[in-house]
Amino acid sequence: MTGRPGRTGKGGNQAGAGDLLELVRSGRAVTRGALQQATGLSRATVGQRLDRLFRAGWLREGAGGPVGSPLGGRPSITLEFDDSHAVVLAADLDTRHARAAVLSLTGEILAEHGGTLVVEDGPDAVLGELGRWFAELLAKTGHRGGEVCGIGLAVPGPVDSESGRVVQPPIMPGWDGYDITGRLSRAFTEHTGAPAVPVLVDNDANLMAYGEQRTGHPDCTAFVLVKVSTGIGAGVVVDGSIYRGVDGGAGDIGHIRVGADALCRCGSYGCLAAVASGGAVARRLAASGVPAASGSDVRDLLAAGHPEAAALAREAGRTVGDVLATVVTLLNPGVLMIAGDLAGTPFLTGVRELLYQRALPRSTAHLDVVTSRLGDRAGLVGAGALVVEHLYAPDRAEERLSEMGV
Ligand SMILES: [Zn+2]
Repeated sequence: MTGRPGRTGKGGNQAGAGDLLELVRSGRAVTRGALQQATGLSRATVGQRLDRLFRAGWLREGAGGPVGSPLGGRPSITLEFDDSHAVVLAADLDTRHARAAVLSLTGEILAEHGGTLVVEDGPDAVLGELGRWFAELLAKTGHRGGEVCGIGLAVPGPVDSESGRVVQPPIMPGWDGYDITGRLSRAFTEHTGAPAVPVLVDNDANLMAYGEQRTGHPDCTAFVLVKVSTGIGAGVVVDGSIYRGVDGGAGDIGHIRVGADALCRCGSYGCLAAVASGGAVARRLAASGVPAASGSDVRDLLAAGHPEAAALAREAGRTVGDVLATVVTLLNPGVLMIAGDLAGTPFLTGVRELLYQRALPRSTAHLDVVTSRLGDRAGLVGAGALVVEHLYAPDRAEERLSEMGV
């Protein structure tokens, strides 16, 4: 059996109900016989542990019918994760816009809302409003607040994932060190009347990368996503986990100085985000008389085939591609995904021009440079998945089963 030590790698009698759940959820063992073989547990012990998972409502017998057993003998009933026992809430904050959704435990979006929410209005107002959105979305799906197992939140700044607080965010005034999890948990309780649930917060590019990697590139062991919208940020997923660095700052490439003198929102000059983001392209278009005020305006112009917007997006792509040559040389990823307002052919062409010119051939030989599959939903899908993976990880699952008294 493959698996990380301390998780499903625990052999023999060490494997608990949480480990069996992990084996079923990952598809590595989905019959009683396969679970016996994977864990070395006796048939009776596997049965006892599965009973706990059935009682919790976390596991069910599959609809696919019996399959051949690895131990021989009669065909076995397949087991599957029962995703109907709870739902997840997720939200993705951009600087002036937000999305929120109710998701199933397997990542399906059940209801979704997008609207204006201004990060500069501060955490108390923004998170309070999100609580209201969550209650309305739950009502739309027919689910009660008590069915929510957790909330995931993507924010446009660096996050200390242990505390769920943002750390010196360049574009989130008033949020530095704020107790986001506490406030969002309170807002959820106020608007739904349900008990508090765990809240997990992470950087938006990290969660977009996580969502895209899990759904579209599950076999890619080194995955990089670069979000180019109002700002620029990157998320890195290594061996299926988000790589955050020591202080949650990994991937924050938007404030690397690229030498120009444009003033950045962070207060410095010449940052990559000030030179090559959607906002930077919009400013250049506006200066030459084309009405554009934001990255999303540039997105609309690109979709309409506006030639000047396309030329500036390609130039921005070249500037970002130069920085990405370093990123790719350092990480040697299998997939480099471009997401956000500028993700499209002209920008991608510019990225490729500089990337392949500046990076070593060995770093790019097996590199796919692609655009986002999930689009605006990537952050929501990633935030939902982060919550599910946290709550149903073997050790945490075991604790929760005990708390539930099963
Ligand atoms: Zn900056």
